[in-house]
Amino acid sequence: MDLGIRGKRALVCAASKGLGRACALALAAEGVAVTIVARGEAALQTTLAELQKVGAGGNEDVPPDADSLRKVGAGGTAHQAVMADITTPEGRKKALAACPDPDILVTNAGGPPPGDFRDWTREDWIRALDANMLTPIELIKATVDGMIARRFGRIVNITSAAVKAPIDVLGLSNGARAGLTGFVAGLARKTVRYNVTINNLLPGLFDTDRIRNVVGAQAQAKGMSYDEALAERIANIPAGRIGDPTEFGAACAFLCSAQAGYITGQNWLLDGGAYPGTF
Ligand code: NAP
Repeated sequence: MDLGIRGKRALVCAASKGLGRACALALAAEGVAVTIVARGEAALQTTLAELQKVGAGGNEDVPPDADSLRKVGAGGTAHQAVMADITTPEGRKKALAACPDPDILVTNAGGPPPGDFRDWTREDWIRALDANMLTPIELIKATVDGMIARRFGRIVNITSAAVKAPIDVLGLSNGARAGLTGFVAGLARKTVRYNVTINNLLPGLFDTDRIRNVVGAQAQAKGMSYDEALAERIANIPAGRIGDPTEFGAACAFLCSAQAGYITGQNWLLDGGAYPGTF
């Protein structure tokens, strides 16, 4: 299925690894010119090189241009990487300067730490709200009017299954992401008339660096092997396995497709059936 987005421009945040990276790769495979953002340079460079390979044409020998963090991808698709903290005003400015008029925006950032709400200060809450609620809203604010003017826009926010089924120790995440979800629910109904959709993807358990670290720490704390700790996490997932980030990327690419213009304000749970409700 051709998703009809060849030649569109995408800004994909927190995308050198994990779910953001998977979204960037899936969009690049559809011929989208992708700008990825992350803080660490090494992983950014690696992912940028991977983007070049999946771009239309599959030519791996395209030389980098003068700027070491900007390369022209295979088939002439311009992919670029921006080293920035997307949760800061300066970081967002840098990202938007590199990709000022995206047709596709994927918002993402690291999740807040777990803990007990009794220990969290106002500063902890502000940090979580900044990263997982206000950063996506600022990015939407900066890009949505251009999308409306061009009569095409696809915004996908990476949130969490915890929006639908809160996880007690992730109170900062539950709160901040629920705030974003409520905001998006209203705005998404205002923009769809102009072929600009806004949706959220809610990951359950996906095989990313972050989850490997979490499961590794759980294994160590419980004195078990990594595989045993992972099996414990998987026990409650009807699919009987952890999710593959490429599955997540494919869902994102579809939500960004020309064909998905009638889907807006939705919260897609990708959790292998873990959420037990009828809907
Ligand atoms: P990951 O594998 O650790 O990858 C995170 C990516 O985001 C990296 O590229 C990282 O690069 C970048 N990043 C983090 N903070 C950033 C910032 N402030 N500015 C710019 N880039 C930043 O994590 P993941 O598993 O893909 O998770 C992505 C999001 O989904 C998180 O919010 C997480 O809480 C949520 N989530 C994930 C799962 C899951 O199963 N994987 C489940 C539920 C929710 P740098 O560190 O170099 O910046």
